[in-house]
Amino acid sequence: MKIICIGRNYREHAEELGNEVPEKPVIFMKPDTALLKGRDFYIPEFSKDIHYELEVVLKISRNGKYILKENASQYYHEIGLGIDFTARDLQSELKSKGLPWELAKGFDGSAAVSSFYSKSEFNLENLSFSLQKNKTVVQSGNTRDMMFSFDEIISFVSRFFTLRAGDLIFTGTPKGVAKIEENDLLEAWLENEKIMDITIC
Ligand code: MG
Repeated sequence: MKIICIGRNYREHAEELGNEVPEKPVIFMKPDTALLKGRDFYIPEFSKDIHYELEVVLKISRNGKYILKENASQYYHEIGLGIDFTARDLQSELKSKGLPWELAKGFDGSAAVSSFYSKSEFNLENLSFSLQKNKTVVQSGNTRDMMFSFDEIISFVSRFFTLRAGDLIFTGTPKGVAKIEENDLLEAWLENEKIMDITIC
């Protein structure tokens, strides 16, 4: 399986990092070894500035290529939440040199995911999600603020990469990203239900 991620899909987040608001989705990938589920997150030795980025994650349910936007909803049936852990110091260095982001984004444990739930339980166009750090809300998003919808993302991505059942798509983070420290507790909420907690080590 592969993990496809969308960058800068929430305007206020793009602006908080001083990035341009994109005209097309910004895409990067993480390897399957980045997946973290039901375990603690260990801060890697190569970074002094790991950020959390809470995101809605789609689980692809069937194979597809050149998927039309109007058919895209048939290609995922479950959603969950994820944290796109990012070595911001390394990413800033790579960005400034015009180099790829993979080292800053794709390291082991950098793609934390919750359990997945049937999308039929939710209004995907008005879905709220939030992250608490040590019991304080630090990110609060709603999918109505996305620049590219789930269906637009699937259609765009599938022009370049064949999607396969089991692939995951991280759909971008709202504003409020910041650094984690050892012993932080991150708790993620989808609507009114807590569906993920991660301790930082
Ligand atoms: Mg992200």
